[in-house]
Amino acid sequence: MAPNYNIANLPDEYRIASDSDMKKRIAVRKQELGDKLVILVHHYQRLELVEFNDFLGDSYGLSKMASIQKNAEYIVFCGVRFMAEAADILTDDDKKVYLANATAGCPMADMAPNDDVYRSWEFIESVLGPDKVIPLAYMNSSADLKAFCGKYGGLICTSSNADAAFDYCFKQGKKLFFFPDQHLGRNTANKKGIPKNKIAFYDARQENGGLTAAMLDNANVILWSGYCPIHVNFNTDQIKQQRKAFPDLQIIVHPECPEEVVDLADSVGSTSYIVKYVEQAAAGSTIAIGTEMNLVHRLAVQNPDKKIISLAGSMCVVCSNMYRTSLQDLCFTLENFDKAELIKVPEDVAKYALIALERMLEVGQ
Ligand code: SF4
Repeated sequence: MAPNYNIANLPDEYRIASDSDMKKRIAVRKQELGDKLVILVHHYQRLELVEFNDFLGDSYGLSKMASIQKNAEYIVFCGVRFMAEAADILTDDDKKVYLANATAGCPMADMAPNDDVYRSWEFIESVLGPDKVIPLAYMNSSADLKAFCGKYGGLICTSSNADAAFDYCFKQGKKLFFFPDQHLGRNTANKKGIPKNKIAFYDARQENGGLTAAMLDNANVILWSGYCPIHVNFNTDQIKQQRKAFPDLQIIVHPECPEEVVDLADSVGSTSYIVKYVEQAAAGSTIAIGTEMNLVHRLAVQNPDKKIISLAGSMCVVCSNMYRTSLQDLCFTLENFDKAELIKVPEDVAKYALIALERMLEVGQ
C-alpha cells in the first residue's frame, strides 16, 4: 500500500517547492496527459487549485461529471475522501481515481460510524417492522453506508437534490431515516412542510438514540445527530448585525446551517446554487454568504462589481479538510501516480453503493 503522502511528508522536491514552480509543472503534466486526465475540484478548494479544474462543482455536480467520463484514465479529486470514493464507484474499472491529499476527510461523515448506524437501523426495524423505513444518506458518508442504503432500498442525496430524494421516499409511503447531517435533514423536512412533531431526532450518544417506540411510530422523518462543524458557526446574531450594518443586504446560506439561520436568510441552497445566485445578482448588490470561506473569498474575487462578504464577518470559517490540498499535493499526484493516493472501494461495497448513487442521479435535482 502506498504511504499517505501529504504536505508534511511529501518528498522535499515538492514540500519546499514554490507555488509558481508547482503551477508550471502541473500545467506541463496536464498538457502531457491531455484527455487521459480529468481534475475534479470542489467549490471549497483553495483559489490556486481552482485554476487547474477540468470541472468545478459541488458534490452532486462532480459525481455526475465522474459518472460520464469516457476517455479519462486518471481522475484526480481535489476535495475530500467521500467524494473520491463516490467517483470511484461511479466510474468504470479501467479508470483510476486519486485523492490529491490522502488526509482530507470530512468530520461530518465521521459522525456516522458504520456500526453505530447499523445498530440504530436494527433498533428502528425491531420497533417498526421491516420495510417501513427508507435509509437516505447524505453524500458526506462512508462508502459502506452508501452500500447499506443500496441494500435496503434507499439512496444518496446531496444538498442539491435532498428535496427530490425526500419526495422519492415519501412517494413510497415510507418513513425516512436520514444521516448524518441533522441540519440538512431538518431544513429539508421543514421545506416539505413536515410538522415538527413528526421529526424524530436520533441522538447517537444515547441508548437507542433516546427514542421510544411511540416516538418512532409517530415520526415521518428520523434524523441522525451529525453536523458540519463549519456551517454550525453561523447564527442569528450575525444575521441581525449584518442586516444592521448593510440595510440592503441579501443573505444566502447553505442548508447545512442550523434551521434558525435558514429561517432568517433570504435564500438557501447548495454551493452551486450559491455560486449561481451571486453571478446572477445585480451589479452593486451586497450579499452575505453563510458557507465555507474559500468559496466566499473566490466569489468576492470573481464578482468585483458586487460586495460579497461572509455572514460570519471576520470569523475564519474555513474547512481545514478542504484546505489541506495544496498545489504541492496536486503536482505530486500528477507526477507520481504509482505512489499517490489511489481510491479503490472494495467490489462488494461498490456494487451496492452504486445502486444508491444511481438512484440519486435518477431522481435528479
Ligand atoms: Fe465536511 Fe463540512 Fe468540511 Fe464539507 S465543509 S467537508 S461537510 S466538514
